[in-house]
Amino acid sequence: MLSTFFVNLCVIISFLYLSGIIAKYYSIRLPFPSLRVQLVGGFLFGLYGTVLMNYSFHINDSTIVDLRHLAVVTAAVYLGGLASVITGVIIAILRIVMFGITSAAIDAAFIMVLLGLAGVYFAYASWSRLTKIITMNLVGMALIFIVLLMNTPSMNTLMKVYPIQMTIAFAGGLFIYFIAEFINRSNEMLFMLERRASTDHLTDLSNRRQFEQSLQSELQHAKQYHQKLSLLVIDIDRFKKVNDTFGHSAGDAVLKQLGQLLVEHARSTDLVSRNGGEEFAILLLDCGYHQSMAIAESVRKAVARSLFILPDGQNVKLTISIGVAVYPDHCDDHDDNDLFDQADRALYEAKNTGRNKVCSLSPRNITVVDTDPF
Ligand code: GH3
Ligand code: MG
Ligand code: MG
Repeated sequence: MLSTFFVNLCVIISFLYLSGIIAKYYSIRLPFPSLRVQLVGGFLFGLYGTVLMNYSFHINDSTIVDLRHLAVVTAAVYLGGLASVITGVIIAILRIVMFGITSAAIDAAFIMVLLGLAGVYFAYASWSRLTKIITMNLVGMALIFIVLLMNTPSMNTLMKVYPIQMTIAFAGGLFIYFIAEFINRSNEMLFMLERRASTDHLTDLSNRRQFEQSLQSELQHAKQYHQKLSLLVIDIDRFKKVNDTFGHSAGDAVLKQLGQLLVEHARSTDLVSRNGGEEFAILLLDCGYHQSMAIAESVRKAVARSLFILPDGQNVKLTISIGVAVYPDHCDDHDDNDLFDQADRALYEAKNTGRNKVCSLSPRNITVVDTDPF
């Protein structure tokens, strides 16, 4: 019996680990995943429960006890009500398919469906996950006991097996809790690290690293599909004065509000980032020269019109300068850094010719010349 328990634990660990990898791959977060994830998860946990059925303790020829109900409990607590019901139904069906239609099989199948339905209540109860696992596990064990009472001719055998099964199921429930929480915590930490690595902490926009990655991938995409790609490089005019006059935290508040304003004025498909200090960028996908100039001009006007609210309630007005460059109009097809360089040069031009304006360099016609000196 101890070896069966050990095998059950190994099966549970493998399945939880597998589910953890799937959750990480698809960025599935608790609580509670979408109905589609619950549907797929319900099927998977139904299969897990069925595998557990194969490592069971035999009470007599037609009656077996095992930890399959823990698959329903885990589905309810970690995935949700729909997953719980599906897991229960799958285990019930496969119990009958695998072991034939006997009255014990029908009773066992019935209580799995019942437990799956009960899982809807446990899934959405406002208890901790540990409390949910313990109580739902107890409900499952009580249901199993009723079925065993109905199907076991010898009370003696039942009384010998059931306390052991109950202890094993209880320990198994706690074991699942600790493993699942550990996997969930590691996944959450990974999601957090991934997010931090690509997000600017002040504005919540993409950071420079993410911007550079997006620029490269969008450039490849534009080249492949012969689309245009525009880049706006944005710099606040005389921002140092805001910091010097109102303090650094006032400057931070302005940066946050400007980030928000840029997102509001970009199209939903565009990528807005803070590339450092008071410099922002907007990558306009599938967007040509005239449209990008129009968007840049509307952003510039919107900023010039806006009142930025400082932490002490004062308002401040500011302006921005924008440099625009468009692929392929402005840049060298063979140099992936050229789009940014051209937009930066245009920004420099805007700064040098009075600020609060949108500039772009004149389109270039680049011909590749073979410069062999010999
Ligand atoms: P210009 O019109 O030429 O761009 O002038 P400017 O004052 O905006 O440019 P400059 O490069 O001289 O100053 C940029 C300022 O941005 C200096 C720095 O204090 C401020 N800054 C950079 N990062 C942050 C930040 O995270 N928070 C705040 N509050 N200020 C920042
Ligand atoms: Mg600057
Ligand atoms: Mg500036």
